[in-house]
Amino acid sequence: MDIRIGNGYDVHALADGLPMFLGGVAIPSGRGFVAHSDGDVAIHALCDGLLGALALGDIGKHFPDSDPRYKGIDSKRLLEQVTALVREQGWTVGNVDLTIALQAPKLAPHIPAMRQTLASILGVGVEQVSVKATTTERLGFVGRGEGCEVWATVLIKK
Ligand code: MG
Repeated sequence: MDIRIGNGYDVHALADGLPMFLGGVAIPSGRGFVAHSDGDVAIHALCDGLLGALALGDIGKHFPDSDPRYKGIDSKRLLEQVTALVREQGWTVGNVDLTIALQAPKLAPHIPAMRQTLASILGVGVEQVSVKATTTERLGFVGRGEGCEVWATVLIKK
């Protein structure tokens, strides 16, 4: 069996009055992520991890934020396209592991829905999709509530 690993990282700033999407799920919060797309920073990191495993560049190369087609786009559509690239090259997803750093709101109640949503797009079992969340103990830009950062590790196999 051939295996590849990839990692992805993304950050988005938080602003008042925007909807918040993380891991394909709408999170009740008075704040959301500033972005050209819907700002789903978790899906963006995951896409970058998958593209990294394929050595196909990054999300900005595939979906440039200068392209009006991607304005306000549901990031689940981007993950569908990246998943199609994985499949076209004969790979399947082994597992993915996301770590989301966000000070508030608490994400624990939303993690099962995120795992289910991501697993269904990736075409894998929910047990192959890990989503973890942490605060940064009020330290740094995450801790001050200025933004969110996400790390993704992925393994693909064929
Ligand atoms: Mg992004």
